[in-house]
Amino acid sequence: MNIRLSRSVVGEAEAAAVSKIIIEEGYLGMGAEVQRFEADIAAYLGVQPAQVISVNTGTAALHLAVQAAVPKGSEVLVPSLTFVASFQAIAAAGCVPVPCDVCQSTATIDLEDAARRISPRTKAIMPVHYASNPWQLEAVYAFAKQHGLRVIEDAAHAFGCSHKGRKIGSMGDIVCFSFDGIKNITSGEGGCIVSFDPEVTRLCSDARLLSVENDTEKRYTGGRSWDFDVHCQGYRYHMSNIMAAIGRVQLARLDGEFAPARRRLLAQYRAELANVPGVALLQLDAADDIVPHIYPVRVLHGRKDAVKAALAAQGIPTGVHYKPNHLLTYFKDMLPKGAPLPVTEQLYGELVTLPLHPAISEEEVSSICAALRKALESV
Ligand SMILES: *Cc1c(COP(=O)(O)O)cnc(C)c1O
Repeated sequence: MNIRLSRSVVGEAEAAAVSKIIIEEGYLGMGAEVQRFEADIAAYLGVQPAQVISVNTGTAALHLAVQAAVPKGSEVLVPSLTFVASFQAIAAAGCVPVPCDVCQSTATIDLEDAARRISPRTKAIMPVHYASNPWQLEAVYAFAKQHGLRVIEDAAHAFGCSHKGRKIGSMGDIVCFSFDGIKNITSGEGGCIVSFDPEVTRLCSDARLLSVENDTEKRYTGGRSWDFDVHCQGYRYHMSNIMAAIGRVQLARLDGEFAPARRRLLAQYRAELANVPGVALLQLDAADDIVPHIYPVRVLHGRKDAVKAALAAQGIPTGVHYKPNHLLTYFKDMLPKGAPLPVTEQLYGELVTLPLHPAISEEEVSSICAALRKALESV
């Protein structure tokens, strides 16, 4: 078999949109096409265009969100089982990531464990919608309210997802998305911040352009700022017209094409693997609300590595989501000495991510499930 674990699904329409920017628009940087992409995202989510701040990666979105909302030196509660981007973004903003354990059934943050790690310096919580599952989002917000914390959702997996019928990014405090090459939609690389706090939006909007005050408005009308002031640290994190052109086409394809394809494959995996001994599926919120970015399953009884090797031998690649961040050298020394994270480490020893992207066929998913069942019988 020749199956990819994940991939971008892009083609003629994206190529034509990029070509149009090069040939007709003639301006490749941050300009009117970026403004149009932000307006499209806002319309999709049902928020105001000014609430959407596009940037060049999901990591940049998280970094700017933390810098805008959380004082330097604060602690931020975050599940250890996440992409290293979440941890690097918190650290880059001069804050301390506090690794929390996850729930065994969902691999999302365990609020009871998080509560035990709160200190007077804790100012925010960053839930990660692991495998596109915004599990117990109201509980996260209730927890934040109770403890006076900001919420910065790492919704990198969750563009297009809903929770109780409301889109992720249409509500809450601060929500960060990624549009990197393999996410639910891509703009080449890219991401955005959606915020319901105008001060956060203003700070992020400026900080993506070196914190030059109100530079965004100038760029959207083809101008530049020459006489300006700067009040805080800024970066070159803005999106380009080229990226936005790809993103706009991808967004237009999401509901009709990518989301149904991903949902169909998720349903098929869950049906075919439901009663396989030695495999445990993660629990999901209403599966209809989910546009799955990845499909991790738990392989029990210490057989993860053998199963991965058996699948690899048949040309089926698998992924690791994720190596826990508290095990990484850079963070080990930075982190407050807290209680252990037994569930995170257990899941790290069990989770195997199976191939998922809109270009995989149902026959391929059946073959992958058959190979997994066979591997479990033989290893
Ligand atoms: C992809 C991802 C990010 C970062 O997004 P990039 O666009 O790749 O920088 C952050 N958190 C999680 C959980 C991700 O999967």
